Amino acid sequence: MAITRFAPSPTGYLHIGGLRTALYSYLWAKKTSGEFKLRIEDTDLARNSEDAVKAILEAFEWVGMPSDCTIEYQSKRTDIYKVYIDKLLESGNAYKCYMSKEDLQALRDKQEAAKETPRYDGTWRPEDGKVLPEIPANIEPVIRIKAPIEGRIEFNDGVKGAMKFDANQVDDFVIARGNGMPTYNFVVAIDDHLMGISDVIRGDDHLSNTPKQIVVYNALGFDVPKFYHIPMINNPQGKKLSKRDGAMDVMEYKRLGYLPEALLNFLVRLGWSNGDQEIFSIEEMLELFDPNNINKSASAYNSEKLNWLNSHYIKNVSNERLAKELEFFDFHLVGHDKKEMILDLCKERANTIVELKSAIESILNVPTIYETTGVNKFIKENTVEMLNKYCELLSGKDLHIPTDVEDLTKPFISENGLKFPELFQPIRISLTGGTQAPSVYDIIAILGVEETLQRINSAINNNFGR
Ligand code: GLU
Repeated sequence: MAITRFAPSPTGYLHIGGLRTALYSYLWAKKTSGEFKLRIEDTDLARNSEDAVKAILEAFEWVGMPSDCTIEYQSKRTDIYKVYIDKLLESGNAYKCYMSKEDLQALRDKQEAAKETPRYDGTWRPEDGKVLPEIPANIEPVIRIKAPIEGRIEFNDGVKGAMKFDANQVDDFVIARGNGMPTYNFVVAIDDHLMGISDVIRGDDHLSNTPKQIVVYNALGFDVPKFYHIPMINNPQGKKLSKRDGAMDVMEYKRLGYLPEALLNFLVRLGWSNGDQEIFSIEEMLELFDPNNINKSASAYNSEKLNWLNSHYIKNVSNERLAKELEFFDFHLVGHDKKEMILDLCKERANTIVELKSAIESILNVPTIYETTGVNKFIKENTVEMLNKYCELLSGKDLHIPTDVEDLTKPFISENGLKFPELFQPIRISLTGGTQAPSVYDIIAILGVEETLQRINSAINNNFGR
């Protein structure tokens, strides 16, 4: 049973890399009948915003991955952290350091000049028999944790394998600032422990934090969780994903007309696979996903794949659902007697809900212009006569479904010695303004005879906009 968490810092919106981490955490928890927990890491008051928290929670609601516990906010847990800082001070695993900012900077400069990694030199670290400097006046001490001086900090990463860090890569880092506020790596370790997190799945940009957090776990005698550090999502050129490539707000995908199941399916495959399977329902993800099979190398964002998946889900979800999704774009099909037929027809050609909307509009809206290229190509001398004749044929008929229209139209085409495009393209232009619309039989069945006749006559009367 895995207890996992997703711990965003609300410095901005939730982007897809974050959502993928959350998805993996969610799947692993649910698959193992564990729990998925959300924690908002909002200690950086200068960079956090309430709007960002709202945006993150909204994104979670949209994709349907609720937290199994009350959402924890680090900004509300300062008293808890202080208890553990005191514990470490009492046990001698942490100590007060009175080094002034200037002295610390001078130490860093010296180390950098000598091409050494800047690290605290242990001036205030208590040791048996060591005499510490005299405590200076007017300096609020920071609290430093006693990190191991020798040996290695090791853990077995579920994605990256055996990880070994020399102890000298981690110095006695600050766990509480002069004003008493605890620091990032300290609170993450405390929270993960107190929230009972067994499996930490996060981006590999956090890998260098892990040895520090292990120092905290060890100093407090906590069990170290299992870590999975997942590689980044790059753009197709292998570079850091930029906004233009798709590193945008998760909710932006909603605004662009993507379905959450398509986005999750897309994300689960960015960094994990099951043979060459591409389509995964949430149920299948739950059955098959295992963080131990996450790819070791970075994955590449591919917007065509996302469109393809989205069109798959658009075709396969219910029309009722599509009608609901369209409402988000202020498009209401409620009460339209041909609702099912319209959706059945238009969903076959739409990559996004936005495209679905414009496909429907291109049929339902009376055309205001007629595409010149189409008109020039397909409206010939005898076209009007042919259309008038076809209108006569339609007039007064009861045509409800596409085959009704087909049964009437096919004989008309052969009796008049026409080729299909000779009739269909002028009709498409008359009914929709362009030549790209779907089957004429469907459009006529959707619009009904009266509306069809009106549009054809109006196109003729307007001489197709010429
Ligand atoms: N708050 C961190 C972030 O947003 C995540 C910390 C973690 O997962 O340990 O990148």
